[in-house]
Amino acid sequence: MHKGDAIKVTFWGVRGSYPQCKTDYAKVGGHTSCVSLEVDDQYLIFDAGTGIIDAGDEVLKRGLKKATLLISHVHADHISGFAFFKPLHSSDFDLTIIASGLLSREGDLGGIESTLSKAISPPYFPVPWNQIACKRTCIDVPTGAQFSVNHLKITTMALDHPGGSSGYRVEVGDKSVCYITDTAHIPGELNHELVEFIQRTDLLIYDAAFTEEEFAAKPTWGHSTWNQAVALAKAAAIRDLALFHHNPDHDDAFMADIETQAQEHFSRAFVACQGMIRIV
Ligand SMILES: [Zn+2]
Ligand SMILES: [Zn+2]
Repeated sequence: MHKGDAIKVTFWGVRGSYPQCKTDYAKVGGHTSCVSLEVDDQYLIFDAGTGIIDAGDEVLKRGLKKATLLISHVHADHISGFAFFKPLHSSDFDLTIIASGLLSREGDLGGIESTLSKAISPPYFPVPWNQIACKRTCIDVPTGAQFSVNHLKITTMALDHPGGSSGYRVEVGDKSVCYITDTAHIPGELNHELVEFIQRTDLLIYDAAFTEEEFAAKPTWGHSTWNQAVALAKAAAIRDLALFHHNPDHDDAFMADIETQAQEHFSRAFVACQGMIRIV
């Protein structure tokens, strides 16, 4: 059933930490984390960094009336575009927001609705959460949960990040995409649970924010490297590797160099760029 369904992946925001607007970063792009997945009439969005603003414009332009937003974690670079996602302010739009692991994480954040409603309310945003126009359904699922959105099968996994983050695997028919950000790794080791999780995926989107030198200086910051991405890609026999969550200090020339190096070790690696579309 549904064998052969294609997944359209659009990279709306590929930076980590904060947006980057300088001209020599424009080719890779400056928006923070947001990637959409489209299959049939399903529109899934990973994270609500500033990239989601452009995704929202596209959604409205095409007259779509519903979407599902999957949140990895609520650090600012993953939610800072959310208030400006225009469908949020459209009364005939239906938005389902799903977060994995938030309820159980250190500090008891109180779940996705509680967390977002604090960020999207005065004094941080002029419109109170309960006056946001669109129909909203907020769902918290535990780490490691498996669930379905229509005919899409989704699994989650806890990642190694300060305060926690969740990875997602979306499967439809014989196709899959894995979204793995933000996460650190142990040098010289492979996370076998992660290798299993991403096994033979068609597209692995992976946090490659750091060079090896930057990782060595900041091993507890919760980010990884292109070198680790390549090691995982090989171990898990994945097809395409998208390097993602780029360091806002890495300009286009620097990223081109990273892509060349990564491709020497894994030919189907590429630097995810804002506006890039991949059909999986
Ligand atoms: Zn991040
Ligand atoms: Zn983070």
